[in-house]
Amino acid sequence: MKKDIRSCSLSEIEAFIIDIGEPKFKAKQVNEWLWAKSIGSFEEMSNLSKSLREALGSAFKINKLKVHKKLKSNDGTIKMAFKLFDGGIIEGVLIPSEDRYTACISSQVGCSLDCRFCATGFLKRERNLLASEIYDQVVELNTVSKQNYDHPLTNIVYMGMGEPLLNYNEVLKSVEYITSSKGLHFSPKRITVSTAGIDKMIRKLGDDNVKFNLALSLHSAIDATRAQMMSINQKNDLKKLREALKYYFSKTKNLVTYEYILFKGVNDSLDDAEALYQFTKHLPSKVNIIEYNQVEKVPYRGSSPKQFNTFIKYLKEKGVNIHVRRSRGKDVDAACGQLANKH
Ligand code: SF4
Repeated sequence: MKKDIRSCSLSEIEAFIIDIGEPKFKAKQVNEWLWAKSIGSFEEMSNLSKSLREALGSAFKINKLKVHKKLKSNDGTIKMAFKLFDGGIIEGVLIPSEDRYTACISSQVGCSLDCRFCATGFLKRERNLLASEIYDQVVELNTVSKQNYDHPLTNIVYMGMGEPLLNYNEVLKSVEYITSSKGLHFSPKRITVSTAGIDKMIRKLGDDNVKFNLALSLHSAIDATRAQMMSINQKNDLKKLREALKYYFSKTKNLVTYEYILFKGVNDSLDDAEALYQFTKHLPSKVNIIEYNQVEKVPYRGSSPKQFNTFIKYLKEKGVNIHVRRSRGKDVDAACGQLANKH
C-alpha cells in the first residue's frame, strides 16, 4: 500500500531521496510542489527528472481532494462539496463581503458533537480530516475566490463541519502549512478556529501559545440553557470554560471571540443578555451575534427583529464589543449551521 506523501515530514522525504541516490536538496523541491504549488500528481513536478518522478510515484501517492460540487448563492456565497480519497464528502464555503473573502472550512467528516441547532450535528462523525485535506480546502476556495472575485482569501475560519479541537494535531498542522512561507504564507491573525468548548483543549492551545484566533460557540451564558442546546456543556460547563479561557489568554494574550446565535424564546431575553455580559466581561473579547438559519429537524426559531435589536442594544449599552453577523448563503444551505452534505 503506497503512503500518502503529504503525511511525510521533509526529513522523511529527504531520507527517501538520499536512499534512491538523488541529492538531498531535491526533497525541498518535492515539498514545494506538494504544498506551495499544491499539485495533484508527480508528473506535474516539471523541474525533476523523469526517473525521480517515477520513483516517487511508485513509492507514494498524493491524496488530493477533488471538487465534487459547487453552488453559488444569490448573495455571492459559494458552497463547495469536496470528495476525499476514501469517498467521504465534506463542505467548505467562500463568503465574500465588502472587504473580506472568508473561507469557512471543515475539520472532520461529520461531527463528534451533537449541537441541537446544527445540521452537521445530525451526521455521525466518520473520521478526522488530515492536515492536507484541510489545507486543500483552503487552496480550492482561494482559487474560486480569485476566479469569481479577482481577490485571494483574506480570512479563514474553522467553522465548517466538525469540532476542530477534537482533531487537534491535524488542525494545528494544517495551520502550520497554511501560515508557513513554504505553504500559503497566510497570516495567523486572519485565521480563526472555532470550538464548541472543550476546556482541556483550550488550555492546550494556551500551552502551545498559538498565534491564530480562538472563537467559542457560546450561544448561552446560562448553564442549563446551554446544556440543553449543546450536550458538550455537561462535561465542559461555563465555569470550566471561563477558567480555561482565562488560562488561554494569560498565555497567548489573544482576544477571545464569542459566537452567539439568537434563538427565539431560548437565549434572547434581557436576562440572557445580562448573563452574556457577566460571562464576557472578564477578558478582552469580541461577541459576534449571529442571525439564525432555520435548519430542518431543528425545533429552534430565530429571534424576532425587535428582540434581536433589544438584545444588542442592551449589550452595547454595557460596553460589550458587539458585531452583528447577518446570515449568508441561506438559499444554498451554506449558512452557519447548515452544512449537512445536502447535494
Ligand atoms: S455546531 Fe460545530 S461542534 Fe456543534 S454539531 Fe455543529 S459542527 Fe459539530
